[in-house]
Amino acid sequence: MQKAQEKVADISAAGRSREELMKTCSELASRFAKRAAEHDRDSSFPVENFQELKDNGLLGIMVPKEYGGWGADFLTYAKAIETLATGDAATALAFNMHNITVGSLAEVPVAEGDDHRSSAVNEFRDWMYDQAVNEKKIFASATSEPGIGAHISHLKTSYTKTDDGFIVNGDKSFVSMAGYADYYVVAAKAARSKSDKPAISFLCVDRDAPGVTMKNVWDVLGMRSTSTNPVNFKDVEVPRSRLFLASEGLALYKIAREPHWLVGGYVGVYLGILTASFDFLIDYMSKKNMPGTETPMSQDKLIQHMTGKLYSDITSARLATYHAARLIDSQRGSDEANAAIHHAKYLVSETGPALTAAAIRMCGATAIARRLPLERYYRESRCGALMPAASDDCLVYMGKAAYGTNLKNPIETYW
Ligand SMILES: Cc1cc2nc3c(=O)[nH]c(=O)nc-3n(C[C@H](O)[C@H](O)[C@H](O)COP(=O)(O)OP(=O)(O)OC[C@H]3O[C@@H](n4cnc5c(N)ncnc54)[C@H](O)[C@@H]3O)c2cc1C
Repeated sequence: MQKAQEKVADISAAGRSREELMKTCSELASRFAKRAAEHDRDSSFPVENFQELKDNGLLGIMVPKEYGGWGADFLTYAKAIETLATGDAATALAFNMHNITVGSLAEVPVAEGDDHRSSAVNEFRDWMYDQAVNEKKIFASATSEPGIGAHISHLKTSYTKTDDGFIVNGDKSFVSMAGYADYYVVAAKAARSKSDKPAISFLCVDRDAPGVTMKNVWDVLGMRSTSTNPVNFKDVEVPRSRLFLASEGLALYKIAREPHWLVGGYVGVYLGILTASFDFLIDYMSKKNMPGTETPMSQDKLIQHMTGKLYSDITSARLATYHAARLIDSQRGSDEANAAIHHAKYLVSETGPALTAAAIRMCGATAIARRLPLERYYRESRCGALMPAASDDCLVYMGKAAYGTNLKNPIETYW
């Protein structure tokens, strides 16, 4: 197989700047916005949006430049996903699942040794980058399970080892892009593990592998076009080369040490909904007149006061998100960075429903028409607090951090 790094010359994203990335995301967001209402209404997967993400090389947003990707850091990623979400948050949320997997890989340094393990790690990296950048394949994240949510220390999906790989069995729930993603990064425990905190690994399973089945049951309040559906694995054979980072049993410890992708990858998505809602409010209030007058509502002192409060809320959420992202880029895995991403997740998730409800209250009944996006923002913003870390889990995490608890110990976390 030709190495991903050797193909860089053919790839459009390599060498392009952060400004170009943001411009691309902004243009895509405008196109996504035109399709968002229809996909939301029909709960249909935005295939065209994903084609455009592919066409613009964005499946490689987290892939380092030397492998042909955009090489985004966490802050750039947060801003990029926020921008995409202003057009269609559901597309951005589904897309984030791909980036959780690729982004986690991109943070692991290239193994220097010429031992078997180092070569296996590097071969896995080359394969995954090649799939994302050149083959334009999509990776989904299949972690949550029925009755367990994302608390992976309790998961039941298991794998047994064979001579040349693994056999996976189990049921996953809430897998975004189910049926559309090409690979499913499945969290599974070693079948014979007896420990309370089992050895958990990630395995990349082919969509078309025998024994993989999916159902389409996603008909929900918000994020309706993400195809977040159950996926079942029955005696699915996975080659050894598809063991994520060629590492067994480390997943829980890695997530406890560096939770930012699972907790904070989608913070930018929900921030994007806030941005779009606030922009909608400003536009609406500038155009709608006070009853019986020619004066725009934006001239009213009470409206200005309420808008000022929302400006303060959204600015706090944005600053918290960018601050956390900067800490992740400069001191990934530090107690400060980990607490900061939980703070951002909490603030953005809680601000969303409050801000969109206030915007509806201020704009009035005409603004809840389905032809306008505000009611969709309202429904979608409600989903943020449900995703890990749930708001209550964020508060407990921050409380523990304040008391100096060792949150690197998985037993102290909610996972
Ligand atoms: C739009 C969307 C897309 C998603 N996409 C994916 C995806 O692609 N891949 C994936 O793996 N998952 C995905 N998920 C699932 C997500 O990661 C979580 O697993 C899921 O949202 C958690 O569901 P839950 O609320 O039922 O679980 P729980 O976390 O179990 O929470 C249930 C309730 O119990 C409470 N609770 C939990 N633990 C405790 C406790 N110890 N004590 C007291 N109360 C507690 C919580 O606060 C909550 O009210 C997605 C979810 C959504 C909404």
